[in-house]
Amino acid sequence: MKMQGGCLCGKLRYVVGSEPASAGLCHCRLCQRSSGAPVMAWMTVSTEHFEYTEGAPSIFHSSRHAQREYCPACGTQIAFRSRDTLNSLDVTLNSLDDSSLIKPQYHIWTASKVDWLKLDDGLPQFLDAGPDS
Ligand SMILES: [Zn+2]
Ligand SMILES: [Zn+2]
Repeated sequence: MKMQGGCLCGKLRYVVGSEPASAGLCHCRLCQRSSGAPVMAWMTVSTEHFEYTEGAPSIFHSSRHAQREYCPACGTQIAFRSRDTLNSLDVTLNSLDDSSLIKPQYHIWTASKVDWLKLDDGLPQFLDAGPDS
């Protein structure tokens, strides 16, 4: 499996060379703030199967143990890396050229979900980071 994606302006491009380990929707405040949106969709892929093919990201340390990587020109967020999980990273699902390829499997950090957003997709919901972390 090989999937390609990139930022809004096209300067930052990447390829994912394998099926993601998982994919989910994150309602945490850091995702909300950094995207300006109520929720972000992420897929977890192994570091060895992800690479930037065009451009280089800017890096923002959103906490002491994690960084967010985004296009320096248009600001699209592409990746999230944590020091706690060095062999994998999270990639924004909707930066894929075809984001219908991967379906989210769960919701995490629903403790900070906005109350006007109603979830009826039947997916498991976790108040915190969920069982994978
Ligand atoms: Zn861009
Ligand atoms: Zn989040």
